[in-house]
Amino acid sequence: MSPMPKIYVAGHRGMVGSAIVRTLLGQGVRSQDIITRTHAELDLTNQAEVRAFFAAERPEQVYLAAARVGGIHANNTYPAEFIYDNLMIEANVVDAAFRAGVRKLLFLGSSCIYPKLAPQPIAEGALLTGTLEPTNEPYAVAKIAGIKLCESYNRQYGVDYRSVMPTNLYGPGDNYHPENSHVIPALIRRFHEAKSANVPVVTVWGSGTPMREFLYVDDMAAASVHVMNLDKSRYDQHTQPMLSHINVGCGYDITIRELAETVARVTGFSGKIEFDASKPDGTPRKLMDSSRLNALGWQAKVSLEEGLSAAYRDFVEIQLPRS
Ligand code: GDP
Repeated sequence: MSPMPKIYVAGHRGMVGSAIVRTLLGQGVRSQDIITRTHAELDLTNQAEVRAFFAAERPEQVYLAAARVGGIHANNTYPAEFIYDNLMIEANVVDAAFRAGVRKLLFLGSSCIYPKLAPQPIAEGALLTGTLEPTNEPYAVAKIAGIKLCESYNRQYGVDYRSVMPTNLYGPGDNYHPENSHVIPALIRRFHEAKSANVPVVTVWGSGTPMREFLYVDDMAAASVHVMNLDKSRYDQHTQPMLSHINVGCGYDITIRELAETVARVTGFSGKIEFDASKPDGTPRKLMDSSRLNALGWQAKVSLEEGLSAAYRDFVEIQLPRS
């Protein structure tokens, strides 16, 4: 029997990286074939450390899910850290992987790489056609650089480095910080706390009319493994050398009002929902065009209600006792 490939998952403690590890194990990859390092063990912004790690471990595949991430507040407060850390992580990992002979790498990006006013649903070709959303521009520029790093190494060195761009993700291991989190973890916390304290009203930011697409993180992990394992000829057929990234979404969006009603149901909150129009709505609609990935044989499986139930269980059983 041929030996199993050694797989390095960078960022295995994050929401997406931990879901990728879960998915690989669930698909029969042995734990001894998955390489991980904590931040304390390996600083990915340090070129010498990253090169030494790759030279010693020589993985065959790399999932690059390590990044400095955060909500709008964090992006606005620490723009220098967001651009510097992400550029360094990507440049170090992609180059060290290449030097160590890694042929297959999957880079994880974000839907914020697209122009603020991109036509909906947003197709891969919208990249670099317009101005970015200013609040997370430094982060987005770093993520665009990551895609271009992969494409440039493919073109110059003939390696097979691919990129996937997820829509808004949620699930176990999310960030439930009261101010800095995204809408789903924020609402899970708020509805849970209202139910527990018998508060009759929950306030949701904005008008309730913006539309967003949400993807459960295990679906994202499954899509990542699917894209990594696609035959090169099949992947190349659906991508272009300088437009090689693939969107990952569930294919439909819902209003924030519908989301709030669903979170209320899942958390068992039966009071009233109010909207605070003094809070920002953000962009009116954000829906990815995932037809490239669908044509490559992948569809999301987890419904919003199922995904929210799993996220809520994780919040009550794991995240709350920790905080
Ligand atoms: P975005 O997709 O980058 O806008 O990310 P968010 O997840 O932060 O916000 C999505 C939408 O949810 C926006 O229209 C927000 O105004 C709305 N929203 C409603 N309540 C909340 C909340 O408590 N926290 C956040 N972050 N967004 C909320």
